Amino acid sequence: MKENGQLRIGIMGGTFDPIHMAHLAIAEAVREEFCLDQVLFIPAANPPHKQERQVTPAYHRLMMTQLATSSHPSFHVSKQELERTGPSYSLLTVQELQQEYGEAAELFFITGSDTINELHTWYHIEELLRQCHFVGTTRPGAPVDKTALVQQFGKIADEKIHFLAVPELEISSTDIRRRLKAGRSIRYLVPPAVEAYIRKEGLYS
Ligand code: ATP
Ligand code: MG
Repeated sequence: MKENGQLRIGIMGGTFDPIHMAHLAIAEAVREEFCLDQVLFIPAANPPHKQERQVTPAYHRLMMTQLATSSHPSFHVSKQELERTGPSYSLLTVQELQQEYGEAAELFFITGSDTINELHTWYHIEELLRQCHFVGTTRPGAPVDKTALVQQFGKIADEKIHFLAVPELEISSTDIRRRLKAGRSIRYLVPPAVEAYIRKEGLYS
């Protein structure tokens, strides 16, 4: 898969409120398949589409993301979106990373497949497609059709948008928050260190 010696960096963006096993599992699957040297988990600051609910303070989301990823030698956490003032545009994130790792580094934006279908709503998507790859995870057996994407974005979509089938995990942060509110178990849905942190800080109760 990897034909040159270039550094390959995965970008796993999310609210991570809280981070859970599906986030980690898809990052690991993409890391392996695309021979990524590192995966950067980048907690989002103040996501514009989630204003209908109060997002947990960035400090806690960052701590949980660090706890969840610390044992993996290739997983790292970036604070860049939390430290930036103004909206979390992916284009800015990618531009900052390209500067940090150099022009030769190849960037792979990792997302759920739902997000791939919404790509046209992303800020400066055409430019973003020139700068980085996208990997959309799909459930095994789900049909993958790039025709619509190629119609929308042109030939570059074929080259820069990829799909990877990963085992489907019915886990979401929303469900975890609901379970905690209801006093139910979240064991095996998040790493033990994340659960311990949630309990210690009394989050989501
Ligand atoms: P919420 O329920 O609050 O929306 P979430 O579980 O969707 O949270 P996010 O932080 O919004 O988590 O997601 C970050 C990224 O992880 C997104 O690209 C999303 O598509 C992907 N993702 C989240 N849960 C899963 C899952 N169970 N399987 C595959 N991808 C997932
Ligand atoms: Mg979500």
